[in-house]
Amino acid sequence: MKRNIVLLGAPGSGKGTQAAFIAKEYGIPHISTGDIFRKNISEHTALGDLAKSYMDKGLLVPDEVVIGLVESRLKEADCANGYILDGFPRTIAQAEALEKVASLDVALNFYVPFDVIIERLSDRRVCVCGATYSAKMLNGETKCSKCGKEVFQRDDDKAETVKARLEVYSNQTEPLIGFYKSKGILSDITVSTIEGTFENVKKVLG
Ligand code: AMP
Repeated sequence: MKRNIVLLGAPGSGKGTQAAFIAKEYGIPHISTGDIFRKNISEHTALGDLAKSYMDKGLLVPDEVVIGLVESRLKEADCANGYILDGFPRTIAQAEALEKVASLDVALNFYVPFDVIIERLSDRRVCVCGATYSAKMLNGETKCSKCGKEVFQRDDDKAETVKARLEVYSNQTEPLIGFYKSKGILSDITVSTIEGTFENVKKVLG
């Protein structure tokens, strides 16, 4: 089984949802750098303050900050049998740093056209517990069905920031597709429904 996994795809391509499914099915941790930053922001840590100043503009947190964070996370005991990196690496420099500390088995690439992504992100609502919803599906419901807390729209899912995030994705993150292709570990995943996409993921992971 392929266990050290990187997920590639634009913001809103469904990586986070698939990561949660993979984590449950294969019993390996889901490491989302975005979630780590959001937790730090909610706890008002120095890392959170720093990350927020970039995230609010749709920009990437500097490589040296993110790389150190992931390197120490990968040393934790629960990563011994594999892990799913969701939202990292996002630059070639991050991917090169990761090569030095990890032996990756597979990079799953989720392609979703930008017009679909823009619609999805403007409709996305989240909860502090990590649950994700569609505003349309919530149909006026404001509480999380998993934990009962209030759901909300991420600041960086607002239209003006989404544009910046997609530009950052095209310029800085998309080149990773070629990077992992050249390493021979890239698998393109056909995106359909959440369940259908997960079936495609399982075919690759075995
Ligand atoms: P995400 O939840 O993955 O969409 O991440 C939200 C935001 O956190 C991004 O728009 C970046 O500002 C920041 N971020 C998350 N992961 C990284 C990363 N690997 N490198 C730089 N910034 C990141």
